[in-house]
Amino acid sequence: MNIKIIGAGPGGLVTGLKLLEAGFEPEIIEKQEEIVSTLCAEGLSKETLSRVPFGPWDSYAAHSFGEATFIFPSGQKAYVKKQCYTMDRTSWFRAMAKKFEAKGGTLTLGENVDGKKFKELKYDVLIDATGPLSWIARKVVGNTMEIKPGVQYRMKINYDYDGMEFFLDKRYSDEYSWIFMKGELANVGLLGSLAQLDAFIKEKKIKGEIIRKEAYHIPFFGTNYQKGNVLLMGDAAGITNPLTKGGMACCIFASEVLVDCLKRGKPEEYEKTLRAHPVVSGIYGKALDYFKELSNDDLNSIGNFVNGVELTRMPAIMKAKLLALSLANREKMSTLIKAVSYCNKYSW
Ligand SMILES: Cc1cc2nc3c(=O)[nH]c(=O)nc-3n(C[C@H](O)[C@H](O)[C@H](O)COP(=O)(O)OP(=O)(O)OC[C@H]3O[C@@H](n4cnc5c(N)ncnc54)[C@H](O)[C@@H]3O)c2cc1C
Repeated sequence: MNIKIIGAGPGGLVTGLKLLEAGFEPEIIEKQEEIVSTLCAEGLSKETLSRVPFGPWDSYAAHSFGEATFIFPSGQKAYVKKQCYTMDRTSWFRAMAKKFEAKGGTLTLGENVDGKKFKELKYDVLIDATGPLSWIARKVVGNTMEIKPGVQYRMKINYDYDGMEFFLDKRYSDEYSWIFMKGELANVGLLGSLAQLDAFIKEKKIKGEIIRKEAYHIPFFGTNYQKGNVLLMGDAAGITNPLTKGGMACCIFASEVLVDCLKRGKPEEYEKTLRAHPVVSGIYGKALDYFKELSNDDLNSIGNFVNGVELTRMPAIMKAKLLALSLANREKMSTLIKAVSYCNKYSW
């Protein structure tokens, strides 16, 4: 089967490696002369990473944490204890590309697939992994998606971190802000604008040198994943988790669905099968709506309640009390709790 993958980001590379493992011989076509990561906070769990047929990855994990820490506006903290990393994406992607070629895959760099090139391509299956700005997704497949801006400074800071830090505080972002240490550097960012990020950095008294300032698109709620033998992967499909905005895990899970369909000789079943996967569950949308309704006071009430708690091991009695605390919003809170447990498994 002639399989072409466009784009050598995590979506293209992971799918390429998994296809090789399954006995296919795909080609990846990448527009950049050398592989470079797009903007990302680079957080990923060991559990998810271990699903990629590549290793050892430790030398590409620039920082390792025993937990993710959720910090409420009042400073109360709750934890998810699991091994997670800030990856060094560029060196990791380059190493995956090397392995892809060593295992028999073809990698073509410096070739931009525009409309003309697309028409000339010969393939049985084409996998579009060209990211959130994909023209193939929009014009060929008819995909639409929501886009949220993500902004980040790469900073040199001396910072006393407590795990991989997520700040739930609406003064800076209507969703969340983050500090992920990365060796001696840190990825400091939020979902929102650069002005909001400046306010966050000032308020948190984060001092240090800004090495790089970046902004990029985060796509979610993609509507279409396939048209005939053109299949969308990762950000081109708009399958980033709507709550956590983690996209790499979504690439990894979607690539499993895709490779399984091709192994069964049923590429036409990709969209239907992916739609049924928890990675794109409808629950995230409802949970996101509720999360956006919460004020800092609401978040602080939750923070007081879960302070010091390991969220994935919250006893049933505690969950019941948390639901009671949300009174009129019991159902919404229940949806949020369920969505968070899905996120923990499928979004990072
Ligand atoms: C600020 C921010 C923070 C984030 N933090 C996290 C995080 O901590 N954890 C996480 O899991 N996710 C995070 N994400 C999301 C994650 O970065 C993306 O979901 C992920 O990179 C998507 O991978 P992809 O392969 O689909 O697309 P991309 O990474 O965008 O890769 C697309 C590739 O296709 C190439 N390409 C584009 N057009 C063409 C063309 N016409 N022809 C040939 N090649 C082409 C590009 O050069 C690129 O190499 C974050 C995103 C942002 C913006």
